[in-house]
Amino acid sequence: RRSIILASRPKGAPSADNFALDESVMPKPAEGEVLTRTLWLSLDPYMRGRMSDKPSYAPPVAIGAPMTGETVGEVVESRDPRFVPGDVVTGAFGWQSHIISAGDRLTTIPKGAPYSAYLGVLGMPGATAYAGMTEIGQVKPGETVVISAASGAVGAVAGQLAKRAGARVVGVAGNPDKCLYIQDTLGFDECIDHRAVMDLDAALRDACPNGIDVYFENVGGDLQDAVYPLMNNFGRMIMCGMVAEYNDTKTRPGPNLMDVVRKRLRIEGFIVMDKPERFVDWRALAAPWVADGSLHFREHVVDGLENAPEAFIDLLRGHNFGKLVIRVAEP
Ligand code: NDP
Repeated sequence: RRSIILASRPKGAPSADNFALDESVMPKPAEGEVLTRTLWLSLDPYMRGRMSDKPSYAPPVAIGAPMTGETVGEVVESRDPRFVPGDVVTGAFGWQSHIISAGDRLTTIPKGAPYSAYLGVLGMPGATAYAGMTEIGQVKPGETVVISAASGAVGAVAGQLAKRAGARVVGVAGNPDKCLYIQDTLGFDECIDHRAVMDLDAALRDACPNGIDVYFENVGGDLQDAVYPLMNNFGRMIMCGMVAEYNDTKTRPGPNLMDVVRKRLRIEGFIVMDKPERFVDWRALAAPWVADGSLHFREHVVDGLENAPEAFIDLLRGHNFGKLVIRVAEP
């Protein structure tokens, strides 16, 4: 069996010497396991993360272990009654010519199907685009949607879903051929070649005259900086990945938004005034707690309207202790 193993951890961009070819005897499946012969192996940006031992949502590949990766394979030998030799399955993981897997992890693919599609449009990247668009994007007709890495596995599906939802879709991609494909074949309304434009901020502004309602984030870096100020009120940023930063050797200034992806953080702004019913609801809930003393509150009272300016200045210095109120007159 041939395997590509992780030989060393990259510093910055991976190089060939981070990998090694390993040859070993053909393994035999144990009870409940299946041996598959790999037909297709998927390569995906997340694998850069597995090469690193930095904390992440998934453990790193160990030095000397085969690289991980989704595959489509043909069953060679099965000790799980659900599979017989010749079945084509997905769900075995590894940069390997032959893989032993627990049968529970495998899914049969219809014979003669476009097998490699189960690693892309019908596989993990397609499902990624679908999840981001439906659960976070929630695109409405007429909205402007920007898709980064728009010709890629995730981006191409995400943008087409946005078109189906009736949005105006702007793709961003890294060369003219990709942009042609994005507009002519995928049917996006516009495409920006981020490597060709002199001024990315201006190009994006021109392509999105009504601002951006939904941004599908696949790359991070300069594009994220350009998108951010164009986001409209109540816009949604689908934080999927930041591939432009995966080879970084030191963290960029500012909060690292890749943590939003890794930790599935939800960062969401709001303005209380937007929903007047909040005031009614809150008073109904809290007034009894205030009355029975179980909701504590403290006031910092300053007497006299003339003292308001100084009290306000002090507020911003932290000199108040509790809710600052000015006693203007006695009732
Ligand atoms: P792609 O097929 O889009 O391939 C990666 C593309 O990223 C490249 O073709 C390139 O496109 C772009 N890119 C690479 N380096 C840079 C750079 N330095 N600056 C700008 N663009 C760059 O990959 P996928 O569709 O598989 O993945 C897209 C994103 O989705 C990744 O960030 C990935 O990690 C993420 N992802 C997240 C998942 C999740 O569960 N959250 C699951 C799957 C993927 P171009 O030339 O057009 O710039």
